[in-house]
Amino acid sequence: MSAAHSAVIIIGSGSAGLTAAIYAARANLAPVVFEGKEPGGQLTLTTTVDNFPGFPDGVEGPELMEKMRAQAQRFGADTRWETAFEVDFSRRPFTVKTTDDPSGDPSSGEIRTYTADSVIVATGAAARWLGIEGPYRGSGVTTCATCDGALYKGKEIAVVGGGDSAIEEATFLTRFATKVTLIHRREDFRASKIMQDRLDDHPKIELALNSVVEEILGEPGDGPPQLRGVKLRSTKDGSTRDLPIAGLFLAIGHDPNSTVFKGQIAMTPEGYIVTRTALAWQDAGAPADLLEKLPNYGTATSVEGVFACGDVVDTHYRQAITAAGSGCAAAMDCEKWLETQNR
Ligand code: NAP
Repeated sequence: MSAAHSAVIIIGSGSAGLTAAIYAARANLAPVVFEGKEPGGQLTLTTTVDNFPGFPDGVEGPELMEKMRAQAQRFGADTRWETAFEVDFSRRPFTVKTTDDPSGDPSSGEIRTYTADSVIVATGAAARWLGIEGPYRGSGVTTCATCDGALYKGKEIAVVGGGDSAIEEATFLTRFATKVTLIHRREDFRASKIMQDRLDDHPKIELALNSVVEEILGEPGDGPPQLRGVKLRSTKDGSTRDLPIAGLFLAIGHDPNSTVFKGQIAMTPEGYIVTRTALAWQDAGAPADLLEKLPNYGTATSVEGVFACGDVVDTHYRQAITAAGSGCAAAMDCEKWLETQNR
C-alpha cells in the first residue's frame, strides 16, 4: 500500500476531467488524475465528433481525448490508469482509494491510498441497459456501436432509443448492417431536428415506432449465446411481433457514475451530484435548503473542497463541450478555494 498527497485529485478523465486537469496543471497545482476504467470517457466510444469547436472537419472521439490528455500532461498533470473505489470526504485532507485493475475491481490489482486538499469529481455517466438482456448482455446486445458495429457486417440489426445517440448510431451502423430497425417507444423523437433529418428516406433504416423490446430471442447455449431476434410490443395496442435480428444496440441514455460517492455528498435521487449550477435546473431533486449552504462557487458540492463537473452533474446539456466548460469552471473554483485555505 502506498500513500501520496496532492493539492487536488481529479477523479475521471473524460472531457470534464481532462479540461479540469489542464486548468489545474496550468495553475501549478500538479493534479493527480485517476482515469478510471474507461480512460478518456464516453468520447472514446464514439466516432466522428462534429460539434466540438476547432475541428471544422470533425475529429474522432478517441483522438480528441488523446489530445486532451497529452495537453494536460504537458503542463504537469499526473494521469494514472487507476479507478477510485472508495472516498472519505468526511474530513480533510480527503482520502481516495484506488485500484489499478483495468476493470476497476477493488478485489484485484494494487490498492493505493491518496490524500488531497481538494477533489474534483468528473466521473461522467454510463450507458443504460434495458434490464432484460440476461446472457445476451455484451453478447448480441451492446451499448457501443463504435466498438461492436463491425461485428454485424452484412447482417440485420436494431437500435433502441429516440434521442440523438440512437439516430447517430443507427446511421453509423448502416455502414455495416444491411438493415437497421430503429425501435422507439413513442411516436415523436427526442432527437434534434437536424438528426431526425438523417432518417428521411434512408434506404437502410426502418422505423418501429410506439414499440418496446419485450423479450430477447435466441439460443443461450453452452458457448457464446446466439441472438436471433427480439419480441416487440406495441405501446399503442399491446400487440406483439417478432423481429429477426443478429444484434441489438441500446442508445437509451446514461446514468451518472456516482455510486462511490453515495452518502458522502448530496445528489439527486437519480444519482446526479448536486452543485450550485445544477440547482439552477428545475427538478434537480436536491434538499430544499441546500443552495443556501453551498459555498459560492458554481461547481461546489455539499462538501467544502469537493467540486464536481461534467455528466455526473449535468441533467440538462450533456455535451462534450459543456462538460469541458464545466471542467474548466471546476478547476478555477478549486484553485480559488485553495487560495482561501492558504494552500
Ligand atoms: P436521451 O436524449 O436521454 O435519449 C434517450 C432515449 O432513449 C429517449 O428517446 C428515451 O425515450 C429512450 N429511452 C430511455 N429509456 C428507455 C427504455 N427503458 N426503453 C426504451 N427507450 C428508452 O439520450 P441520448 O440520445 O444518449 O442523448 C444524451 C445527450 O447527448 C443529449 O443531450 C443529446 O443531445 C446529446 N447527444 C448529442 C449528439 C450530437 O449532437 N451529435 C449525439 C449524441 C448525443 P423517450 O424519448 O420516450 O424518453
